[in-house]
Amino acid sequence: MCKIIVVANQKGGVAKTSTVRNLSYSLAELGKRVLTVDFDAQFNLTTCFGIENPNELQHTIATIMTSLLNDEDIPVKEEYVVTVGKVDLIPSSIQLSVVDANLRLEMGSDRLLANLLETLKPDYDYIIVDTCPSLGTLTINALTAADEVIIPVNPQLLAVMGLQELTQTILKIRRRLNPKIKFGGILLTMCDKRTNLYKEISAQVDAAYRSGMKIFDSQIPMTVKVGEANCCGMAVSEYDKKCLAGQAYMDFAKEVIENA
Ligand code: ADP
Ligand code: MG
Repeated sequence: MCKIIVVANQKGGVAKTSTVRNLSYSLAELGKRVLTVDFDAQFNLTTCFGIENPNELQHTIATIMTSLLNDEDIPVKEEYVVTVGKVDLIPSSIQLSVVDANLRLEMGSDRLLANLLETLKPDYDYIIVDTCPSLGTLTINALTAADEVIIPVNPQLLAVMGLQELTQTILKIRRRLNPKIKFGGILLTMCDKRTNLYKEISAQVDAAYRSGMKIFDSQIPMTVKVGEANCCGMAVSEYDKKCLAGQAYMDFAKEVIENA
């Protein structure tokens, strides 16, 4: 059974993209068949997989979504899925911002991504979707496709603000569009356990959400290595085997698998 995990938080800079990059790597190392989808017009995930000029690609999630919007046939999977190491990726490009605008105008387009991913499910154990920093039409499309949402939280930012808006949106999606959607849990990223801010924010998240949602035991430590690995198109464990963030993402992947 394939599980579709959407990584979402309308705040930018909470490590959504880094989490998709490293979770997908770790799940693949654990023997799972993994597809990732870059669903952000800024195509950071695509860059994190080492693809420098996605605007020159013939097929991206933007071209596929455009075909779906126009009720046109789409190419076979082999033409639009790229394999990097053990992980498959549907890349994004700047053109996805045009799709965002068109989705807003088109009736009944909420399920377009869900319908596409449904056809890919038989080939994978996990499909992991990276989303953009907004709760607009693209994110709604992603959440409509989701079995589970994972919410990265950066304790350096005012983390609890905005979380309620996100959980309300997810509950609304569950009522109106996707009754199967579940809260996978909250992942604390960029943790510097020595700081008072970390202690304060993690306690706040715990107090506000522990009773209603899983908070992953794994926490990702703050380290420049994550950004450096992203720039090199690598997972942090590939970039630096000893890096604690790589180990933390591996532990996180094991929790995701247990989170059946
Ligand atoms: P988002 O997709 O939510 O905007 P990113 O994954 O792009 O977030 O991360 C935002 C920034 O934080 C990037 O520059 C990234 O390299 C950096 N970053 C991500 N995870 C960590 C971490 N564990 N420690 C330090 N910096 C990190
Ligand atoms: Mg991102």
